[in-house]
Amino acid sequence: MDNSAPTQDSDIWFEDGNIILEVEKTLFKVHRSILATHSPVFKKIFDEQSQFYQSPTTVPRLTCYDKAAHIKLLLQGVYNTTSFEGKTQCDHLKEAAGMIIMGGKYGVDFLFQRAVKNLSTIFPTTLDKWDQHSQSLVNSLISVAEQVDLIHALTVARVTWILPAAVYGCFAYRKPEEILASKFGNAPSMQTAFLLLFVNHVRLCRRGVSFVASLPAQDCSAKNECDGLTRRFYLDTLTWTSNDPLGFTSEESKKFKELVNQLCSKCSDKCSQAHKDSREAIWSDLPKVYGIGGSWAELKASEGNVASHLQFLAQVKNTASR
Ligand SMILES: [Zn+2]
Repeated sequence: MDNSAPTQDSDIWFEDGNIILEVEKTLFKVHRSILATHSPVFKKIFDEQSQFYQSPTTVPRLTCYDKAAHIKLLLQGVYNTTSFEGKTQCDHLKEAAGMIIMGGKYGVDFLFQRAVKNLSTIFPTTLDKWDQHSQSLVNSLISVAEQVDLIHALTVARVTWILPAAVYGCFAYRKPEEILASKFGNAPSMQTAFLLLFVNHVRLCRRGVSFVASLPAQDCSAKNECDGLTRRFYLDTLTWTSNDPLGFTSEESKKFKELVNQLCSKCSDKCSQAHKDSREAIWSDLPKVYGIGGSWAELKASEGNVASHLQFLAQVKNTASR
């Protein structure tokens, strides 16, 4: 067991502060008024035990059962309300899960909303926007463990419309063993659920090449050749190991282009169209495949208002201001 004494945070320690937050092994000396202005939860704590917190002789301590890094994010947010605004979409990806968790728990709306806005552009609701965005950039910025934490935070906060793309990105571009080796720090019970979702995702992968079933085209001008080419292509796909049914690896892309070029013109058109349609169908099914909701339309209905979550926040505020 770690018996070392907690130490002062190097950044957030105001000599004229009147409350010390103790989190894990870190101490933050801050101001009750600043916390109470931005957080109805802190306001409530200070109001309810005002005698204790207004002691003239000692600076009172409050223990928070959070991660020190998360509390630090919250404090950086309330002391500098323009922080985390972000110049680019990915600027604060690393902090996003913490902002969602802290913003939700302590009722700091703007922190929560800022993270949601940020994430909504990285994990879009349409295939067009998904195609415009580089998911490999996402993977280079956050670790698997951070990605899993983020998905968990979004699930708890019910930010459902961001989830399908976030889960897809994790399953499609991370190695399964990497995902399973991650500690599921905030929610060990999530591991089983995640495994089941991964199985659904792997099933989805075969659908990525289901377009070959539409070949040869009815008006094909070279049935034997086109049939042969299609069969050989399909057999080859059985050896593919990518988990990204919405995209081809460069090698797969080369083979797909070869197929399209070698087919007769009717089959070539049919093949391109069927491939496009199958991607649309896969995207459209993501909410259902991952058990997040019935359809994109259903998820999008709560986009931007975070309905159930903000209702919860409002309740906290009402009790706090009573
Ligand atoms: Zn043909």
